[in-house]
Parts: sequence; structure tokens; C-alpha cells
Amino acid sequence: MSYVFLSDTLPVAAKQYVCWLCGLPILKGKLHIKRAAVFEGHVCSTRMHTECENHTRGWSQDDWEDYGNIPREFRQMFGITEPDRPKVYVLCNAGHPVGAYSDKSKAVKALENRPDWRLQEVTWEDQ
Ligand SMILES: [Zn+2]
Repeated sequence: MSYVFLSDTLPVAAKQYVCWLCGLPILKGKLHIKRAAVFEGHVCSTRMHTECENHTRGWSQDDWEDYGNIPREFRQMFGITEPDRPKVYVLCNAGHPVGAYSDKSKAVKALENRPDWRLQEVTWEDQ
């Protein structure tokens, strides 16, 4: 495995991203770490919560390889839970998803005059 670190930047999320370490959403507007690197010959970038990146500050190369990029294990390792994990409101017609909203009032409005449609509430991880 070859990995060459290039740079870290601290951008504001222009949209929602997923944290490469914990697998939970990085909400729009949140400062986070964007890391550029060359992995196996390809330039790639990953985004992480600043809090999650802090947990890895002391990690050696071996620690990174042991981690193996399993977000569930990362969350268990550091006791990360996200009480404000956003819900997604999915509209279903005969069991098939036909739309998704992050804002419940918009989802309910879209349901108006569509008696066959159902609203399903899922969390980010269920998707
Ligand atoms: Zn994270």
C-alpha cells in the first residue's frame, strides 16, 4: 500500500459530505478537514470531521493500516454517537421511493393530494 500525504485544508462544507473516518454526515456549513493524498498512484481527497481527525493525530502508519477504514469500528473506538444525526424523509409510492427530503414539512406538503403515497422516516445510516 502506498500513501503519500499532500495537504490538509479547512474548508466550509458547501453541501453535505460523509466523514471518511466515522461515516457520519458532515453537515453543510461545517468546518472540516479536506485531506489530499496520493493513494496507490492516484490523487484523492477525503473529508473528515475536525473532531474525528483529532482522534488520529497520534496515529502511526501501523495504526492507520490497523484501522482499515471501517467507520463503525472508528465510532466504537472513540464512543462517537450522533444524537443529531439527520433524518431523511422518503416518499414511497407502492413501496418504491419516489422522493426524499431532509425537511419534514416539505415532505408532508409533497404528500398532499397523493393518497397512495406514504412517508417513511429513515436515518442517514439506514440508507
Ligand atoms: Zn467523523
